[in-house]
Amino acid sequence: MQKAKLVVLGSINADHILNVTEFPRPGETVTGQRYKVAFGGKGANQAVAAGRSGADIAFIACVGEDDIGDRIRQQLSADKIKTAAVEAVEAQTTGVALIFVNQDGENVIGISAGANACVTPDYLARYRSLVENADILLMQLESPLETIMAAAGIARQSGTQVILNPAPAQKLPDDLLALLDVITPNETEAEYLTGIAVKSDDDARRAAAVLHDKGIQTVIITLGSRGVWLSHDNHGELIPAFRVKAVDTIAAGDTFNGAMCTALLEGADIQSALRFAHAAAAIAVTREGAQPSVPWRGEIDAFLS
Ligand code: ADP
Repeated sequence: MQKAKLVVLGSINADHILNVTEFPRPGETVTGQRYKVAFGGKGANQAVAAGRSGADIAFIACVGEDDIGDRIRQQLSADKIKTAAVEAVEAQTTGVALIFVNQDGENVIGISAGANACVTPDYLARYRSLVENADILLMQLESPLETIMAAAGIARQSGTQVILNPAPAQKLPDDLLALLDVITPNETEAEYLTGIAVKSDDDARRAAAVLHDKGIQTVIITLGSRGVWLSHDNHGELIPAFRVKAVDTIAAGDTFNGAMCTALLEGADIQSALRFAHAAAAIAVTREGAQPSVPWRGEIDAFLS
């Protein structure tokens, strides 16, 4: 069985992106200006960010038994990710996101979970030892909740640190929150989890307190171009982001989470790990797209030097 210091459990999607002037109305057909297929899914994006930034990483996920699933697995390997636990599921399609982007940069998205729904607790059980032997387990919320709960439980029992990026935004059971060591919501997700709209440092401090009360030691609320609010050891502080000219913030949070894990595994203290993650995410926002924008280690080191 493979071993890795970081295990990411999460989703894989093929993003079909069509740029249109205006969104079609019911019954209408519009012709788009630009179409492309990109590899996405929060799990895959975060795994790619960890792999490219230098982590020893294995990914637990599913693709369909289709051509794009094969191509995605090959790309994940090229991004330095161990893929023995990324299986192609018979008679399933790879997860899909159908994305319309209008001229104002707004988007509407429809998702088919496809093979992502096959990451069940039974599937996880086959790769239990990967989680047990890892130092960190990183997850998001695009996989079945019962599997996320089960994985967090295995990790907790075996001393593997559990980091949850609670995206896309939804409310979560206290049982799950109690199993987390670190949580990394953005402002919207923090509001879903705590009921507090995060508009100021004081709001962030109060939202973090609610999450600490649920049993989570380290709370990192990402604040876009402002950086993050870090709260742990009875202390809260703003760790500012780098100032760059952003062209597209898709996958900023995903890049941030993956790179943060790389730095933590290398023994960095939390402030240094956040600085490294900020650098990786800052590079990503200066480029278009999800996975194509995720930087390699050399680029992050050069940015920081
Ligand atoms: P999400 O993409 O999950 O909504 P955020 O927008 O909070 O997450 O961004 C996550 C991280 O990405 C930030 O903490 C920061 O490091 C980086 N980031 C996002 N937007 C910018 C920006 N405009 N300039 C620099 N860094 C950014």
